[in-house]
Amino acid sequence: MQDIIFLPGVGPKKAELFAKELGIRSVEDLLRHYPYKYVDRSRFYYLHEISANMPYIQVKGKILKFEKIGEGKNLRLSAVFTDGRDTIDLLWFKGIKFIVEKFRTGIDYVVFGKPTSFNGRYNIVHPDIELVSQLPPAEMMGLQPYYNTTEKMKSGFLNSKMVQKIIFPLVQNLKTGVPESLPAFILKRYALMNLTDSLMNVHFPKNATTLNKARQRLKFEELFYIQLSILRQTKWREQNFKGFIFSQIGTYFNTFFKDNLPFELTGAQKRVLREIRIDVGSGKQMNRLLQGDVGSGKTLVALMTMLMAIDNGFQATLMAPTEILANQHFETIKELLGNPGVTVALLTGSTRPKDRVIIHEQLLSGELNILIGTHALIEEIVQYANLGLVVIDEQHRFGVEQRSKLWKKNVQPPHILVMTATPIPRTLAMTLYGDLSVSVIDELPPGRKPIQTYHYYQSKRQSLNQFIAKQVQLGRQIYIVYPLINESEKMDLQDLENGYNYICETFPDYTVCKVHGKLKSAEKDFQMQKFVSGEAQIMVATTVIEVGVNVPNASVMIIENAERFGLSQLHQLRGRVGRGADQSFCILLTGFKLASETRKRLEILVRTNDGFEISEADLQLRGPGDLEGTMQSGLPFELKIANLAQDGKMLEIARRTAMEILDEDPTLQKQENLLLKAQLRKLKTNTLNWGVIS
Ligand code: ADP
Ligand code: MG
Repeated sequence: MQDIIFLPGVGPKKAELFAKELGIRSVEDLLRHYPYKYVDRSRFYYLHEISANMPYIQVKGKILKFEKIGEGKNLRLSAVFTDGRDTIDLLWFKGIKFIVEKFRTGIDYVVFGKPTSFNGRYNIVHPDIELVSQLPPAEMMGLQPYYNTTEKMKSGFLNSKMVQKIIFPLVQNLKTGVPESLPAFILKRYALMNLTDSLMNVHFPKNATTLNKARQRLKFEELFYIQLSILRQTKWREQNFKGFIFSQIGTYFNTFFKDNLPFELTGAQKRVLREIRIDVGSGKQMNRLLQGDVGSGKTLVALMTMLMAIDNGFQATLMAPTEILANQHFETIKELLGNPGVTVALLTGSTRPKDRVIIHEQLLSGELNILIGTHALIEEIVQYANLGLVVIDEQHRFGVEQRSKLWKKNVQPPHILVMTATPIPRTLAMTLYGDLSVSVIDELPPGRKPIQTYHYYQSKRQSLNQFIAKQVQLGRQIYIVYPLINESEKMDLQDLENGYNYICETFPDYTVCKVHGKLKSAEKDFQMQKFVSGEAQIMVATTVIEVGVNVPNASVMIIENAERFGLSQLHQLRGRVGRGADQSFCILLTGFKLASETRKRLEILVRTNDGFEISEADLQLRGPGDLEGTMQSGLPFELKIANLAQDGKMLEIARRTAMEILDEDPTLQKQENLLLKAQLRKLKTNTLNWGVIS
């Protein structure tokens, strides 16, 4: 399509801004730059109709007089505006000189803005003002679109209004029609608006109903193509990669199950193991996401899956995001295995070169059955005799690229089991991990007491100290976590140091250890070990302990400045306690002043321990646009109008439709599907590895 540089009102400077700031180059890009909101300008109000809590309104009238109030920094401009009967104040705090020069008394204007009440009088702060004689054409006066722009665009005279002016004639000319991007049978089946009308109405809606229909169609289109893209990749992978077949359950698995399993598996663990068993016996490569709340017993499932691999002559590897966690998995798994029939090794950044050499040799000779480690596992030099299974723990910490390296560790790609304790809402999972099968452990091992969570203000520190003392007397251990969002930030580290000193002074009789990401690995281990062994009663730490650390005797999690953490992170941290038989507590400490959204976050945690409920609430509160960077980059292409938090139903329909089409025509070869194929090619620009990796 045509370059926007030739459009009236654009030119080289604005074209460059569009391209640099929003990636908009062609006319089509511009048409797909949908408004983010609409304001109703369909009627004029009278001033006597104004009441509190009104949205944006517009009033016709004249300015009676201007008045400058205050001086210096406090200078304000006030104008009295009348509709001929009543008056209202217009207020400006900035751009005063410009306003005084531009607007005159006694001329007919339309004033537009949100009225607020002050000292018994209504006013509008920084209103939009337009000459009545220059009002936009009637078609533009209904629901008025607002477009996202950036600061740079605004200073280059490309504000929302300007964007609107550029798009308007474009949309008028659309009447001749733009090529449809959805096949006719889909439009018909779901009674969707055609593309031309949708684009016209999304930019300049006739009324609320047509706007709604237009938005529905554009959302469906987005969700449908995302699903089509994901599912086609999945199909392609299934057709091109065979999976290793683990045909038997053998001695390793059975011996472990009969002799070593320290407890009865939960129903959910059994179900998930059955699901995995079917996958690895199917001849297709397994790509499974295992979701289970913190403490639900995923490690055991991972281990038993690894035993299936070993029973069939394959090696298995378990990759964890941090050294602490890798260490812990290594210890746990060695202990669970008990007898030395299975060989296990640990490989991390701190493995000594001479031990590395041995590990590399044993891996290549096949002597080593299980290798546990950090991303050291995926280095080129690590080669396996016959890798059959890769387990990835806490997958959201791994980049797509890191995972893709694992695929190349055998001639045929190994089975992949990805585990996460951050449950992902269904709609998100269908999109982000749309090509993975999903298993859920939705049941905690028996005998766990739900963690009691409280939100305290920092002013309650005295009673909190008493509580700490009491718990320690009962023989429990305590975590105190400080936010260290950025490990390099001095301020944060200072908070942690101060906190540590304060705790040492307050509890001189206790042993307190301290762990943060800046410590050398040996020192970190030493400090951790103090806590694990029970020598230290209190651990002051940063979020390095967030993932996976398992000390069942720790029963209190205190989170300082809890307002600085995200919801799922708080939930993860809380999951460090409640692992033993004792009643556990989580205390969220904050200052008194909190944003209302923060307050809601904390309330959710106090109310529930259910990770799924929390992640759903998180999605609703933050909106999917604000998810972790890794998640966002997981989408095959950007969502411009659909909202994963709100459009779940539509997403399911879109997915089902895409699936039906691909079942009939996996490579989209048929005549009626050529449009789909062309459209996908157009949409997919930066999806190099998508779909080939988990
Ligand atoms: P997560 O899912 O968070 O990785 P873990 O695998 O670390 O959870 O398990 C948490 C704790 O629960 C561990 O101490 C583990 O030994 C224990 N556990 C796992 N499965 C069971 C079970 N079926 N019955 C009792 N305890 C279990
Ligand atoms: Mg775990």
